[in-house]
Amino acid sequence: MIRELVKSFQPYRVVEGNYRVWLDKNESPYDLPDWVKEEIFDELREMSFNRYPHITSMPAREAIADFYGVSPKNVAVGNGSDELISYLVRLFDGNYIVTTPPTFGMYGFYAKLNEIPLVEVPLREDFTIDGRAIAEKSKNARAVFIASPNNPTGNLQPEEEIVEVLETGKPVVLDEAYAEFSGRSLWKLIDEYENLIILRTFSKAFGLAGVRAGYMLAGEEIVDALYRIKSPFSVGIMTMTSMVVMLRHTDLVEKRVRKIIEERERVRKKLGDLAYPSDANFLLVKLNAYEELLRRGIVVRKLSGRLEGHIRVTIGRRWENEAFLRAVGEITGG
Ligand code: PMP
Repeated sequence: MIRELVKSFQPYRVVEGNYRVWLDKNESPYDLPDWVKEEIFDELREMSFNRYPHITSMPAREAIADFYGVSPKNVAVGNGSDELISYLVRLFDGNYIVTTPPTFGMYGFYAKLNEIPLVEVPLREDFTIDGRAIAEKSKNARAVFIASPNNPTGNLQPEEEIVEVLETGKPVVLDEAYAEFSGRSLWKLIDEYENLIILRTFSKAFGLAGVRAGYMLAGEEIVDALYRIKSPFSVGIMTMTSMVVMLRHTDLVEKRVRKIIEERERVRKKLGDLAYPSDANFLLVKLNAYEELLRRGIVVRKLSGRLEGHIRVTIGRRWENEAFLRAVGEITGG
C-alpha cells in the first residue's frame, strides 16, 4: 500500500527528554519580548479566524517588499522557507537538481520526494563552492541550490563563485537563511540576474521558528510561476501578522544579532582549533562528542558522512554557551 519511495525515507528523529540546553536547531535563543507578542496579538484579535488568509499572502509580501524597496511581485512567502524549497525543486525545466554537499538536507529531501535525480558537486576542502564545476554540471539542471552561509559548515560562499554559476543562466536558489549573521546578502543581484532566487527565513535572526515564516526574492516571472503551484492557504494569519510586526522592529533584531555574533566569536576562541570560523549563528566543531554532551544535558547536532566525528552547535544564551564549553572541557580534558 505505502510506496517503496516513501518507505525509503527515515522517520523524523525526535530528540525528547529533559535536557537543559538545546543547541541543535540553529534557533534564536531569544523569544520575542512580551510587548512584541502583544502587538501581534492585538492585530490578530481584529482578524476573522473563520476566514481563509489572503490567497497570495499580499499583506506579508507588501511589508517585505517595503522593507527591501522592491515590488510585492518580487516576493513570495511560505510556511517556512522549507515550503518554498518544496516548490522550487519542481518549478523549472530540466532533468536534475544540483546541490553542494555537505549542505542543508531539504534540497535533496524534496528532490527525492519528487523523484528528481540529484547531482552533487562537493564543497572544496575549505568548504567553498567550486563555481566552475557546478557550472559544468548544470547543463540540464532544473536548478542549483547553494546555501550561503552554508549549513552545517557555517561559511559564506565567495561572491565570484556564485556569479560564475549565475552566468550559466540556470535557476540558482541562493539560500541565505543565516544572512543576518554574516553581514552580507546578494539579494540586490536579482535586478541583474533573472535566474537568481534569494531564499530567506524569519526562523533564525528574527526568532520566529515556531511561527513558520519564510520568503523569497526573485524576478516577477518566477514569483508568478510559484504562485501558480503553491498550496493556496498554507501561509496563515499568524505567520503573516508576525512577519509584518517583526519588520517594524528590525532594530531589536539587529541588537540580538550583534549579541549572538559576539557570543559566537567568544565561544569560537575558547574552542580554539576545534571550531571552524562561522558566518552564521552556529559553529561546526571537530569533536565526536554528541552522546557525551547529551549525557550532560546538552543537545547539539550530530553530523555524518564527510563530517563524521563533527558536531554543529547553535550559539545560545551566554549561560548555555558556558554550559557547552564546560562540558567540552570535561570531555576533552582541556
Ligand atoms: N535553509 C537553511 C540553510 C536552513 O538551515 C534552514 C533551517 N534549518 C532552512 C532553510 C529552513 O528554515 P525554515 O523552514 O524554518 O524557514
